Amino acid sequence: MERRDIVLPDKILAVIDRLSRGGYRGYAVGGCVRDMLMGKEPHDFDVTTDAFPSETRECFSDCDVILTGLRHGTVTVVFDKENIEITTFRADGEYLDNRHPSEVTFVRNIAEDLSRRDFTVNAMAYNPEVGLVDMFDGEADIERKIIRCVGDPDERFNEDGLRILRAMRFASVLGFEIEKNTADSLIRNKNLLHNISAERIYSEFTKLLIGDGAKNIITEFYPVIFELFGEIPIENIEAVERCPKHRAIRYAALFAHLDSRAAGEKMHFLKTDNETLRIVKKLVESMSDPLPSVSSERFEKDVMHLISKNGYTDLEMIIKIKQAFGNENRDVLDGVSTVMKRAKKANACIAINQLAVGGKDLAEIGVPKSPKMGEILGNLLYLVIEGEIENERNALLERAREM
Ligand code: ATP
Ligand code: MG
Repeated sequence: MERRDIVLPDKILAVIDRLSRGGYRGYAVGGCVRDMLMGKEPHDFDVTTDAFPSETRECFSDCDVILTGLRHGTVTVVFDKENIEITTFRADGEYLDNRHPSEVTFVRNIAEDLSRRDFTVNAMAYNPEVGLVDMFDGEADIERKIIRCVGDPDERFNEDGLRILRAMRFASVLGFEIEKNTADSLIRNKNLLHNISAERIYSEFTKLLIGDGAKNIITEFYPVIFELFGEIPIENIEAVERCPKHRAIRYAALFAHLDSRAAGEKMHFLKTDNETLRIVKKLVESMSDPLPSVSSERFEKDVMHLISKNGYTDLEMIIKIKQAFGNENRDVLDGVSTVMKRAKKANACIAINQLAVGGKDLAEIGVPKSPKMGEILGNLLYLVIEGEIENERNALLERAREM
């Protein structure tokens, strides 16, 4: 691979320059260096420095600073309207519980900071005057497309069990292999994941799941997945790859063998947000509801009822997951998509609030505000979708009176 040039954005250069004028040295570090060497646009830039946090603050005394990360040595500087995290070189103390270092020590030496980082490809730093600092051959591992622990894998996983999932996450997202010693150790130490909080697992596993290599990594490291989630059928793993890179759809594919309650429990264990939980449960449930039959006369109407029940967005996701499992025939899936497109374009009436009458109109003809009113509106919507009445005020009111 040809060596990519590292070109830091002006703001990062300015931050490094500012530190340098204070007598300190700043480096871009970690993921951004890795991404730039791969020719990818980093999504953010972390800066590391030999300046202690109070010294960093002095260098940026004219800027607002956010101190929420101070315990870890991070000062967030609002520099030219952008938040830039500047972290002092650290040497992590002993890890007492496989996840938190017992103490964080600030050091003046970048070598120590890079040694505490997880993988060789993540343990590089760059300063325009110094050049690339790459003590563990991270650049060569990028070229070889390999995730390898910095130092002894058993030790590193024992310090922080989350690194097991992080190795798999980077391999999935970057399309890399996990080097043999690291891979063996990761499986050997899979039980360490039980010490890790659900939030951290969720965040890493989600990235793994929506990565390009999700199927390969989940298959290759199935014992780790089993440790986390129990048995996952192989057809689910294969379907994951055929799903769009959408968090909820892919989780639903992973848990598609469960009923919606059990799938919800898995998501709950991961402390997911409510919207993701809702969609996963719905998609899993939809796996056991066949779509309307395309040869039936009622096909179009049945699809309109489905749209009405689910809304376009959810129904599109239902189609996607069914497609991924190949458990509906192509004609049906295409048929549903066609009806949906047509309905959307025509802005067809699929919801009560699209009816030409509302609660107020019903009240005027003497319907009391009660559940009955909702029921009548629901029935009117049903009849409109059935094509039995026009979505037109007088027609609807007349029907409402009969009801
Ligand atoms: P991304 O592009 O996904 O943000 P990243 O490499 O920046 O990837 P982060 O999780 O943001 O990943 O972490 C930033 C850097 O901090 C990593 O590149 C790595 O050097 C270090 N790091 C993060 N988590 C750990 C950990 N658990 N153990 C050791 N080093 C870590
Ligand atoms: Mg990052």
